Amino acid sequence: MSFPHLLEPLDLGFTQLKNRVLMGSMHTGLEEEKGGFEKLAAFYKERAQGGVGLIVTGGIAPNLRGRLAPNACQLSFSWQVSKHKIVTDAVHEAGGKICMQILHAGRYSYHPFSLAPSKIKSPITPFTPSAMSGRQVRSTIKDYATSAALAKKAGYDGVEVMGSEGYLINQFISSRTNKRTDEWGGNFDNRAKFPVKIVEAIREKVGKDFIIVFRLSMLDLVDNGSTWDEVVKLAKWLEQAGVSIINTGIGWHEARVPTIATSVPRGAFAWVTEKLKKEVKVPLIATNRINTPEIGESIIASGQADMVSMARPFLADADFVNKAAANTPELINTCIGCNQACLDHTFSMKRATCLVNPRACYETEINFTPTTHKKRIAVMGAGPAGMAFSMYAASRGHEVVLFEAKSEVGGQFNLARKIPGKEEFNETIRYFINQIKLHNIDLRLNTKLDASVLATEKFDEVVISSGVVPRELKLPGFDNPKVVDYQQVLNGQVEIGQSVALIGAGGIGFDMAHFLCERESTSLQTDKWLAQWGIDKTYQHAGGLTEEAEHHPGRDVYLLQRKTSKMGKGLGKTTGWIHRSVLKQHEVKMKTGVSYEKFDEQGLHIKVGEQAEVLAVDNVVLCAGQESNTALVDEMKATGLPVHLIGGVDVAAELDAKRAIRQGAELAMVI
Ligand code: FAD
Ligand code: NAP
Ligand code: SF4
Repeated sequence: MSFPHLLEPLDLGFTQLKNRVLMGSMHTGLEEEKGGFEKLAAFYKERAQGGVGLIVTGGIAPNLRGRLAPNACQLSFSWQVSKHKIVTDAVHEAGGKICMQILHAGRYSYHPFSLAPSKIKSPITPFTPSAMSGRQVRSTIKDYATSAALAKKAGYDGVEVMGSEGYLINQFISSRTNKRTDEWGGNFDNRAKFPVKIVEAIREKVGKDFIIVFRLSMLDLVDNGSTWDEVVKLAKWLEQAGVSIINTGIGWHEARVPTIATSVPRGAFAWVTEKLKKEVKVPLIATNRINTPEIGESIIASGQADMVSMARPFLADADFVNKAAANTPELINTCIGCNQACLDHTFSMKRATCLVNPRACYETEINFTPTTHKKRIAVMGAGPAGMAFSMYAASRGHEVVLFEAKSEVGGQFNLARKIPGKEEFNETIRYFINQIKLHNIDLRLNTKLDASVLATEKFDEVVISSGVVPRELKLPGFDNPKVVDYQQVLNGQVEIGQSVALIGAGGIGFDMAHFLCERESTSLQTDKWLAQWGIDKTYQHAGGLTEEAEHHPGRDVYLLQRKTSKMGKGLGKTTGWIHRSVLKQHEVKMKTGVSYEKFDEQGLHIKVGEQAEVLAVDNVVLCAGQESNTALVDEMKATGLPVHLIGGVDVAAELDAKRAIRQGAELAMVI
């Protein structure tokens, strides 16, 4: 069997999990939508059918004031049970198991009634919490137990107690946020009593035959977080209190260290779980940036953990486990860690989905049913839009011919994958290449689709997915070969000197600055990456951070924009700060409110407000946005065939791969 360790059952005594894969907790937004639980049931059912060993739901509050947001889901009363049953029945019908996560947000609550051990505002929420009274502490413990008992009634196989990521339980454990002077504060034993009492209370209510997973913060990544000794002590107490499994939590939400973004090396935190393996007997789950069966297998085979948790990889591909079991990992649609359609949506109060799988959380709405009118379709361009359309249209039974002018498929993703920390984008290209083969799509590389092709071959419809071209700037001296565009740099067509000015500070400007500064990607070297972010594997300090992070500035880079607004404002909600931090580490000089004058032997002449300046740079790289590649649109329309535009050729402004792929899927669904 391939992946024998990953696919080996796990015996918990009273129940067996069919393999070592846990689908980690994710809030989808369906929890609060009208009729959302039916959609949620379809979402989880597909993952259960896909073979996952145990599913954990998004966080459900044990009481009103513990809700993350005013409208967030809560399970405290019998009348709230029935909608959960829709989910548990669907998962059980599909042969799966599911736990409900109980999450009290504490000071991370996004409403004015938040409660916490002490009255200390978090740096990432606008509301100052009230300090809990002793009575409120005791009633909250009861609420956890009540919620767990109701979860059992709703048919869940267990609960996960969210004890990490800086939420209420973490706030009690850490002296950073717990300044209480009563029996719940002060020394560590007092601070850790809250989670232990919660687990004891739950176990008492639910009996022996019910899974209790505890998500333990093993590495806080904030000052005054837990020490390693404290982590071990608490793990042992939780084991005694009756947890069935301990899951790993890495980093508080307010930590300034990336923990799940694409630039985090795969399995970068498995060493923390491995450290705890030596201390407790209860099964342990490793987490964070585990996104392939290979990495999961190696973590379990090497004894670092007993199970692995993957959350976003199940948005990207519901059939992850089945594909691993069938020894076809090359067919898995891999999560690239971009956060663009999952966490960024959640933080914008939108339903989560997935950049590489627009069906995620839309299982009842987006479906590719077999066509009754088979068509022969010509597709112009094998970028994300063209590839997605071709795959979904062919899966419905259409005959697709995919034309690509270049020698490889992928479009701009071939440039994106060259950026340090974006190596995962290779996986999406690999996935599409295998889907093109699987669906017998007639792929014609090095072949430009134009009217002459349509004159010699018969097609029913044409899909134009010819993407974008970099915006040119016509300024004095810009015809100098030292002024180049981002494509020329990433394609290795030009040599770039030690000092560079980048015109344009959108996603590509930021990526280009990173590319020019970080000469070898730390995302492929875990130890270097940990040193870059000041993470200490020897755990000398509370929270697991070193005093000094290691930074090695590469080139002299200026990043420029005309707007006066904050640099990187349009970057991803949950990842923009990482891009800004990396450029700060590399000492990139950022200037806003810039107007560009000319380029000559002195360098780039600019004005910032009324102030003239010359940046003595060797090169200028244009990252000034894109324009739709519409060169052949009129020619195609003139053939009289129905023509559809998707991706960048349709609208270049604010284009990203999420839109390109989704537009391809939506057209394929109806064509
Ligand atoms: P394109 O990717 O431009 O593909 C168009 C394809 O059509 C090309 O392969 C081209 O050769 C082909 N073509 C053109 N004319 C013809 C013809 N006549 N016949 C045959 N073939 C033709 N997006 C994100 O969402 N997240 C990111 O993190 C991200 N990072 C990026 C980093 C960089 C450095 C770059 C450059 C882009 C990044 N993007 C990112 C943007 C993303 O890659 C694009 O939004 C996406 O590729 C657009 O897809 P598309 O299919 O519309 O066009
Ligand atoms: P962009 O985000 O639109 O940024 C273009 C930049 O060029 C802006 O900083 C703009 O700022 C500047 N600009 C525009 N017109 C100009 C002109 N005429 N002269 C000088 N400067 C000009 O586009 P992009 O950076 O090319 O990225 C393209 C898309 O790829 C983005 O929309 C993004 O979604 C996607 N992408 C995403 C990521 C990611 O991490 N999620 C990474 C890379 C790319 P001023 O107008 O203020 O000068
Ligand atoms: Fe992964 Fe990006 Fe999809 Fe989120 S949107 S699940 S990070 S690929």
